Amino acid sequence: LVRLRARLARSQNVFGQGLLSLLSADKLDDDSWEEIEDTLITADVGTTSAAQIVESLRTKVKVLGTRSPEEVRGLLRTELLAQLNPDLDRTVRTEGHSGTPSVLMVVGVNGTGKTTTSGKLARVLVGDGRSVVLGAADTFRAAAADQLETWGARVGAPVVRKDEGADPASVAYDAVSRGVADGADAVIIDTAGRLHTKVGLMDELGKVKRVIEKKSQVDEVLLVLDATTGQNGLRQARVFSEVVNVTGIVLTKLDGTAKGGIIIQVQRELGVPVKLVGLGEGPDDLAPFDPEAFVDAILD
Ligand code: GDP
Repeated sequence: LVRLRARLARSQNVFGQGLLSLLSADKLDDDSWEEIEDTLITADVGTTSAAQIVESLRTKVKVLGTRSPEEVRGLLRTELLAQLNPDLDRTVRTEGHSGTPSVLMVVGVNGTGKTTTSGKLARVLVGDGRSVVLGAADTFRAAAADQLETWGARVGAPVVRKDEGADPASVAYDAVSRGVADGADAVIIDTAGRLHTKVGLMDELGKVKRVIEKKSQVDEVLLVLDATTGQNGLRQARVFSEVVNVTGIVLTKLDGTAKGGIIIQVQRELGVPVKLVGLGEGPDDLAPFDPEAFVDAILD
């Protein structure tokens, strides 16, 4: 947790500190509130949430009539936390069930960090003493399967793959079959993220899911989203959430942006909790998303 804070703080507190200093100014007039709202929007919080935060802060500051740094920090903390919906269930279901493994599909646009996230997630589970099978269902790029194989070797999880161009659904089926045969706890399926057409994507991911369900239920569909891509990433996320039933979001590359507000926006827009965050390229750079730790890191 300490490490998470340090890592987040480095990039995130740019916006947190900016807000704190704006809020602590001697005079808070319409212009200052507008600037506070702009800062929130620049940090990718989204216009609706930014307006709500400002509205609520404005009222509270007026009622309290004081702006001691501690109080301002406390108010801002409360607002940001409320926007993050801290009570959402962020558990990643990986416990397995009655003889079949938990199946997790990892979906998202290419380059967002799907393969890396699949590898890191396998690492976390294996570290917890769980057995994991990885399925390389991104068959459109041979490099993706190679990359997953490297992760598998690194974390101690077998990788099921086929030749480039093979049917992704058949790889997924084989991976889940392997998981069942091995008595594995979890099977993680890395999928292809070609946003060619919405119908194409729907057909492809739908088929992968249907085929998996012949062997085991799908417990999680984790949508991987690159935090540095802002509105564009959000648009892509919307398409995915329309074609598959996303159960959780993994926000990657949070180490590379000062715009952590995207977490607020993506949760609000998709109505799905951010469950995990990626904080680097290394095997240990995946963390459960903890709203309180996140807000504290921003305001540190
Ligand atoms: P995919 O095409 O969606 O499978 O994406 P990859 O897993 O190949 O990742 C694309 C690039 O992003 C690679 O260079 C990864 O090392 C990098 N990457 C993935 N997750 C993170 C993260 O959380 N932080 C940083 N800084 N880089 C990441």
